Amino acid sequence: MSDPRLLRRAADLAAEFLDTLPSRRVFPDVELESLRAAMGGPLPDQGQDPAAVVEDLAAASEPGVVATAGPRYFGFVVGGSQPAALAADWLASAWDQNAGLYVLSPAAAVTEEVAAAWLIELFGLPEGTSVGFTTGATMANFTCLAAARHAVLQRDGWNVEEQGLFGAPEIHVVVGDEAHVTIFASLQMLGLGRSRVHRVPTDDQGRMRADALRSTLAGLPSGPTVVCAQAGNVNTGAFDPLEEIGVLARGRGAWLHVDGAFGLWAGASPAFRALLVGVAEADSWTTDSHKWLNVPHDSGLAFVRDPAPHHDAMTLGAAYYVETAGAERDSYNWVPESSRRARGFAVYAALRALGRSGVAELIERCSRLARRMADRLRKEPGVEILNDVVLNQVLVRFSPPGSGPGDAAAADDYTRAVIAAVQRDGTCWLSGTTWHGVAAVRVSVSNWSTTEADIDVSAEAILRCAREVASVPA
Ligand SMILES: *Cc1c(COP(=O)(O)O)cnc(C)c1O
Repeated sequence: MSDPRLLRRAADLAAEFLDTLPSRRVFPDVELESLRAAMGGPLPDQGQDPAAVVEDLAAASEPGVVATAGPRYFGFVVGGSQPAALAADWLASAWDQNAGLYVLSPAAAVTEEVAAAWLIELFGLPEGTSVGFTTGATMANFTCLAAARHAVLQRDGWNVEEQGLFGAPEIHVVVGDEAHVTIFASLQMLGLGRSRVHRVPTDDQGRMRADALRSTLAGLPSGPTVVCAQAGNVNTGAFDPLEEIGVLARGRGAWLHVDGAFGLWAGASPAFRALLVGVAEADSWTTDSHKWLNVPHDSGLAFVRDPAPHHDAMTLGAAYYVETAGAERDSYNWVPESSRRARGFAVYAALRALGRSGVAELIERCSRLARRMADRLRKEPGVEILNDVVLNQVLVRFSPPGSGPGDAAAADDYTRAVIAAVQRDGTCWLSGTTWHGVAAVRVSVSNWSTTEADIDVSAEAILRCAREVASVPA
């Protein structure tokens, strides 16, 4: 028997932590060596009382825990668990279901089946689209591109799962110049190479240029082709022109994949759906539930229009997909893993807790708050917003007082110093990036609990840090 007191104690520790999220330093003031000292030491010979283990783990970890789930974490695109999803995730751990096969957990299989259907409807994807619940968008991109690899080679009579890539027809892979790094990671794992891709130039917002895609495709020899587009640039939030890209891809008979790790969620909001016109014409789509649905990590989603190549690229069982009406869902046919965590419970709970209108409201609220941040910062002399704030991402650049407009090096140094000062300050956390050759701050608003007051206090902290950096003699 497991000890209910232990689980209640863990729940109390968790609830106490969550209570501190709005007020604690966002990034802890922690030293690597002190964390190592607190956690480390030799592997114990003898076991320890579980209650003591949990207390010690919590105490030793606490100084190194980041408030990524809190309202003022604006780094990367990170999300933060909403309550129903977190509680469902606790149950998933307690139930310890293996979501690999229906016979291992009918409940996990059916929860995923239902959540998958809801998501297809929410995003307006074609009926019959197959879905895999992956660890994140990286593995979702991998899964979708494996399906693409299968499909485009099969048209040339090549079975890549059986024969491998040795001697296979060459696949032309075309990506936007600002495709996410995980697209390249997926291509590298699939034997398609990260450097032999054809990169299509992007515009000032990071969108793939349709005219450039047209000439890239026109310059390629005939043969199997995969085009990777992006819905939501990780820096600017900008969307590739999916409709035009779709027409060009279809004209060549290419597979079109859309990486929408956070941007696909814009499709859940009537206010933002226009950014995604044409998205449903693609062949595969990636998104993350741990980003904008705000479920706990790790939770990505791979969608593929035609279940056959998706199945045949992933299955551990018999290749050649046979549709059986009403058959139970065996998840191992749709993801790279066999045994895995039942992450569908959290996705299901999040969707039920929010409903269609709640998801739309979450997307719209975060985006409104991103605009509020941009508007507050841009009022200040020397602060420039580099992107059109079309969604939840803001790119900011700081110029030191008295510097001329042409002094890019001074602005790079100053911007990096401001980022470091904000990270030290602890009111909020944001990360730096290089945008079209210049240093910039990236602000991502993607958490259900962020309020206008969080934006205002964070903007003030950022501007205060900028003034402090400026006042320190170089
Ligand atoms: C975050 C992101 C990814 C990678 O997602 P993980 O969940 O970290 O694997 C891929 N593409 C885009 C556009 C992203 O924003």
